[in-house]
Amino acid sequence: MSTLLVENINKSFGNFQAVKDLSFSIEEGTMFGLLGPNGAGKTTTIRMIMDIIIPDSGTISVLGNNKPREVNDFIGYLPEERGLYRKMKVGELLLFMAELKTMKRKEAKKEINDWLERLDLMEWKNKKVEELSKGMQQKLQFIGTILHKPKLLILDEPFMGLDPINTDIVRNIMLEFKNNGTTIIFSTHLMENAEKLCEQILLIDHGEIILSGKLKDLKKDFGKMNVIIEFEGEDSFLKESKQIKSYDNFGNYVEIKLVENADSQELLRDAMKSAEIRKFELVQPSLHEIFVETVQKSNPAN
Ligand code: ATP
Repeated sequence: MSTLLVENINKSFGNFQAVKDLSFSIEEGTMFGLLGPNGAGKTTTIRMIMDIIIPDSGTISVLGNNKPREVNDFIGYLPEERGLYRKMKVGELLLFMAELKTMKRKEAKKEINDWLERLDLMEWKNKKVEELSKGMQQKLQFIGTILHKPKLLILDEPFMGLDPINTDIVRNIMLEFKNNGTTIIFSTHLMENAEKLCEQILLIDHGEIILSGKLKDLKKDFGKMNVIIEFEGEDSFLKESKQIKSYDNFGNYVEIKLVENADSQELLRDAMKSAEIRKFELVQPSLHEIFVETVQKSNPAN
């Protein structure tokens, strides 16, 4: 069953069309990345899914219902604009958020303690929200989003403001939810995290889809392999080989983008003329590279 079904939605603000005839669906239990450059229409799309703004046309069905408010208790939503009651105490705020999702008080209290412990916020439980750092408030809001064990999690930039350690913690929690059957839609500009997490992506630009599908298929279809060479000796082959379009040289290690229809064996022969090769590996392009190339291709003026 599709947890989310979006059909031909459009949204304009005045004369500006932010979302153009967007359609996609997400199957239950999928980790889904909604990606795109700044201003692409990601947050606008998420807000329409959450029924915060209404599409000009098109339909959206969430958990089999076209009134998301009726299935609110089964959804966890982390909005882009983080809004917490600054004067409330951390524990009280979480209890309030749990009760909004009709959680039982006793269960909520236990869950709150478990999550505060896990996200290293227990000592802040009786402090006011305004005393927390930005990253801590972000973790707090994340806890409030997942407390009630939603069937569908919608996270608008969940890693924003988090240090690498907390980014890992949040990423692992997202994976745990996914493994327990939760469907997760999230937007991010961190391609490394999207790459590690997503099964499926939707890349939009100027409110339109420019790439969508399963990440592993998209990588295969991208058609190009990069080459990683570890070597000792001269790197003159990097300038001389006709197989190379561009490269990032890290000294004894270089990542190479090949020209169209390149012959990687020819590159290997070129490299062996000046250097001793320790590793020669064909690798799939990164999501970062796919993102950049696809967005650039759809904006030829840039
Ligand atoms: P970012 O990655 O920068 O957060 P985004 O993909 O989430 O971007 P949106 O916030 O959806 O982008 O914005 C898409 C476009 O719609 C932008 O050009 C933005 O200026 C415009 N827009 C969004 N909300 C409004 C609004 N309430 N009024 C007018 N224009 C808006």
